[in-house]
Amino acid sequence: MFRINDNFTKLPASYLFSEVARRVKAYTDANPGVEVIRMGIGDVTRPLCPAVIEALHKAVDHEAAGESFQGYGPEQGYAFLRDKISLYDYKERGIDIEPDEIFVSDGAKSDTGNIGDILSTSNRVAVTDPVYPVYVDTNVMGGRAGELGEDGRWSRIEYLPCTSENSFVPSLPLSKPDVVYLCYPNNPTGTTLTRDQLKVWVDYCRDNGVLLLFDAAYEAFIREEDVPHSIYEIEGAKDVAIEFRSYSKTAGFTGIRLGYTVVPKGLKGLDEDGSPVELNGLWRRRQTTKFNGASYLTQRGAEALYSEEGRRQVKETIDYYLENARMLRVGLAEAGYEVVGGINSPYIWLKTPATMTSWEFFDYLLERYHIVGTPGSGFGPSGEGYFRLTAFNTHENTRCCVERLSLK
Ligand code: PLP
Repeated sequence: MFRINDNFTKLPASYLFSEVARRVKAYTDANPGVEVIRMGIGDVTRPLCPAVIEALHKAVDHEAAGESFQGYGPEQGYAFLRDKISLYDYKERGIDIEPDEIFVSDGAKSDTGNIGDILSTSNRVAVTDPVYPVYVDTNVMGGRAGELGEDGRWSRIEYLPCTSENSFVPSLPLSKPDVVYLCYPNNPTGTTLTRDQLKVWVDYCRDNGVLLLFDAAYEAFIREEDVPHSIYEIEGAKDVAIEFRSYSKTAGFTGIRLGYTVVPKGLKGLDEDGSPVELNGLWRRRQTTKFNGASYLTQRGAEALYSEEGRRQVKETIDYYLENARMLRVGLAEAGYEVVGGINSPYIWLKTPATMTSWEFFDYLLERYHIVGTPGSGFGPSGEGYFRLTAFNTHENTRCCVERLSLK
């Protein structure tokens, strides 16, 4: 009889969002007529901007005519899009990233999950804690995580706590990992690292032969000068870092799907003989073998984001969410909560009051204020005692949430 990949059976059921839904349903069934405000939304709610819609319509027309019909495209993405990414996301910021270092994909979840294909299963991994769960779970699937302990930690993964005790700034690892995942602006805490703080990480990776996997899915929310939009703003990062980007939260592409990954030429790892091998070639091989390219329509839609109109319209949408984030941050602080995030990010991370666990606070908010958020413990052991609210609801609902939470 054939065997399965046993690593999958090691993974505990992912029950965070299903448990949230179950508790909300039980509450609304028992309390019909109560208006619950959902502040745990992890998806965008504003529609695609007009420039994208127009480009999508045009692209549909291309597919309708024999002479402009597009079938399979280049696996790494069309040149019309990669050229614009190289120019507007990098060169305009003084960063030299060439189109052939850019790989367009169906999103950052796939790429952050799939990148392990080109890395040895013997590598040791470090993650910040709390963490976007994909980094941990895909390393479990890949056989790099070891065993799950009763404390919720995998034995071969180093967890770097980010809590109010260290102002949400992770310390450098102690266990000599080979690969480190960083995500800034961070999901779930909404915190960022400054240029100097990121330089510490790039220097550490360079000095210790560590690969830095940098997830910049929330880059478009950055408004402060001292917060880098790309890890490649830090000198030397091209030798050690892969960067993941997403159009999901940036431009509302969560449904139509698009992202990209930058694998700089010159970034090398060692093969089993100890000889250096370029990761760019390995990732190209991986993508051309296992991925047939993101859709032509979506790439034409993304191209329109780089027009003057597109850039202005997307900024307006992000400003809308950032205003929600500001209302939450300021309103909750005034109501006496300890909050971080929400400045360069759509996420607000608050400390649960007194000795309430994350789930106790979830029940308390639901029953007392009819507000739904996400328990921090769902993002890792160091998320216990914290809670995530998001800025993706409407202004009206966000204002109403703040008013309710201000009532004692
Ligand atoms: N990375 C982080 C940190 C995220 O929070 C998310 C989505 O929530 C993603 C990646 C996934 O992005 P995409 O929609 O491009 O797959």
